[in-house]
Amino acid sequence: MINRYGPYKRYKQVFGVTSHSNPDKEHTVVITDKGEWQCSCPAWIFHTPRKPCKHIQEAMKDQVVQAFTPKPITPKVEKVLNRFAAIEV
Ligand SMILES: [Zn+2]
Repeated sequence: MINRYGPYKRYKQVFGVTSHSNPDKEHTVVITDKGEWQCSCPAWIFHTPRKPCKHIQEAMKDQVVQAFTPKPITPKVEKVLNRFAAIEV
């Protein structure tokens, strides 16, 4: 299950990918203004070199869907997005 949010600050696209192990949990996947993909899951954050995790791959597949209605960004998602800035190098 993938939620599509609209653009947010320097993120061109924001996705919410439901966790497979815990359906109540959602991983935040973004495309930055530089066209880079990022995910909030530990697999992506701690893996070096960074490679697309399964959430990014899912969002990439979903991205080809043309028509969608963006959902408003929730405070929870916003919190995750603001945290991305801290892990970027
Ligand atoms: Zn991920």
